Amino acid sequence: MSEIDELKIKLAMACRLLCRAELVDYSGHISVRIPGTNHFLINPHPISRAEVKPEDILTFDLEGKRLEGKWNLPSELPMHTRTYRAREDVQCVAHLHNRMVVILSMADRPLIPASNPGASFGPGPIPVYQDPALIHTNEQGDAVARTLGSGDAAILRGHGSIVVGSSIERTFAACIDLEESATRLCYASLLGPVRFYTEDEVQRVAKGRGRLPVIQKIWDHSIAKAKVAGLLDGF
Ligand SMILES: [Zn+2]
Repeated sequence: MSEIDELKIKLAMACRLLCRAELVDYSGHISVRIPGTNHFLINPHPISRAEVKPEDILTFDLEGKRLEGKWNLPSELPMHTRTYRAREDVQCVAHLHNRMVVILSMADRPLIPASNPGASFGPGPIPVYQDPALIHTNEQGDAVARTLGSGDAAILRGHGSIVVGSSIERTFAACIDLEESATRLCYASLLGPVRFYTEDEVQRVAKGRGRLPVIQKIWDHSIAKAKVAGLLDGF
């Protein structure tokens, strides 16, 4: 099996896992750069994120030109093309419609680490792109990439978020951590003032949490849960 075929399988699995975790709904997408090229793979517009298959995956270049695949492109493709252009270190981009992150942005509450999943993103706050319109143009994609800067995540106010990483597994784990961090912060805020992590606490927690075995454990656990639920039949 070729490296690209293996990436298509892993990307389709990641898409289903994000759907099961309710981080994407009928929209939202995840892409991965084909190593050493300016091409990337992404799930298509019309196929449910719950049942996307490796053969559904599309191939694009960084101009947004489709190179392979029969389905329509995701409408917010510029988020991917412009981020890959701006960040050579980024190998994977996920665009989420994640509920609790969006709820924080609706209340203008900054997402700052107050529990371990949040430490993965540094002392924060995670930057917020303020325009809620969907990202359909290169100019909008550039603006999102600027908001993201050199970080791993940015919040799209009232809309969702963008999460990037150096692999599918690492990006998926960050997607889980981002929503868990926001969820815990929302609930804790209902109880009263929140005790946020110090910079030293963020650094020490992030150091352990960013280790490859931890990332792999999050990925393997999510795969196992999905298999038990019969959501990865055929893989
Ligand atoms: Zn969107």
